[in-house]
Amino acid sequence: MQIIHAGQALTPDGWQDDLAVAIDDSGRIAAVGPQSSIADTRVDLLLPAPLNLHSHAFQRAMAGLTEARGPDPRDSFWTWRRLMYRFLDQLSPDDIEAIAALVFMEMLEAGYGAVAEFHYLHHAACGTPYDNLSEMSQRIVAAAMQAGIGLTLLPVLYQHGGCDRRALAGGQRRFGNDPDRFLALQAEAAQAVHAAASDYAMGLAPHSLRAVDPDGLTAVLGQAATGPVHMHLAEQVAEVDEVHAHLGARPAEWLLANHPVDARWCLIHCTQMTGTETDALAATGAVAGLCPLTESNLGDGIFNGTRFAGQGGAIGVGSDSNVQISFFEELKTLEYSQRLRDLSRAALATEGRSTGRVLYDAAAAGGAQAGGRDVGRIAPGAWADLAGYRTDTAQLCGRRGDAALDSLVFAGGGPAALREVWSAGRHVVTRGRHIHRDAIVATYMRRMARLETDI
Ligand code: ZN
Repeated sequence: MQIIHAGQALTPDGWQDDLAVAIDDSGRIAAVGPQSSIADTRVDLLLPAPLNLHSHAFQRAMAGLTEARGPDPRDSFWTWRRLMYRFLDQLSPDDIEAIAALVFMEMLEAGYGAVAEFHYLHHAACGTPYDNLSEMSQRIVAAAMQAGIGLTLLPVLYQHGGCDRRALAGGQRRFGNDPDRFLALQAEAAQAVHAAASDYAMGLAPHSLRAVDPDGLTAVLGQAATGPVHMHLAEQVAEVDEVHAHLGARPAEWLLANHPVDARWCLIHCTQMTGTETDALAATGAVAGLCPLTESNLGDGIFNGTRFAGQGGAIGVGSDSNVQISFFEELKTLEYSQRLRDLSRAALATEGRSTGRVLYDAAAAGGAQAGGRDVGRIAPGAWADLAGYRTDTAQLCGRRGDAALDSLVFAGGGPAALREVWSAGRHVVTRGRHIHRDAIVATYMRRMARLETDI
């Protein structure tokens, strides 16, 4: 049993002062109440640690390598993607494990408690399966355990290089499976996930309507009746046009017309949706998986957040390409995109709740739903995914309640204020630093020294 004392805490009943939170040995919150015994840890401000709902861990090692402009004046998402394929061609299972451990550690140090890893790098170079079909999935699980982060593993079905069903080429061959081999891989990966930790969970991720054909989508959905389903939906204009040309409808339109999309689903990147699609998706109860830093970095477009929220739609955030790991920057970037588009302020705030509060609440609930993980609330029974902050910093100046959240999101106060993080009761960040930071960074840097970064 661990006891945390919090000067203020965000609970399902709102802000509460001088709270004690007890965590049992299984990693769940056992009790929440007044402070009556000695604390193991004290924090000024206690928040439910959000789940990062979309990550491709290996892309962390490419951050900062793709910002130069090539001779092609139309330098774009698609040139970035070609560079990404060349980079990942080099990566071994040991590299993947080292990169994933680093980025999972960074997520914890940013106040996330768990991650939904959208994992598509399955095979060796040229697409040859490893002797152990789920080798790479198991490396993701090993990295998560090393960092102590909560994990929802989403093995990805990737069949084709485009809607015309062209064969996978180059680096893409490492992603490819037909539905049968994918389901075998998924079953193996599930064993590893369930053996690893009782809070770890499985889901399913058909990559996109570009990479999965309608029959493949039906086949894998039929075999996975429970757990979250994640799919890239509508990120780029060229993607929407390609899907429209082959399926006769835009991606969101086609998906909603052909599958019973519901609260199990999380649709990643909803940057290219019409108003009608935005309303229709909000009504399904599915989570819109937003990745504002990556979407900004790749020039994807702006999600219609005000309209989606106005229709009661559920959102969460993910770090996707992992170009920067900052939960608060994701929230701020989402809000600022709305303000810049609409020439407004406090775009997503409501009458009773400030912008930072609305964003935090939405991301905590949406992340939990998308990860199929009982978190996002400081309440008995939930996994103890918790983040503790100090408020005696220059940016927070003792602020309380919603003003403290707004200062974390908009005043850049997060990094200096983060003190303690627990994931399912695992106390992995203390005094702002991951408990295994030195070893994880050393291993990562040793692996990276071998790689060709002049891509
Ligand atoms: Zn993605």
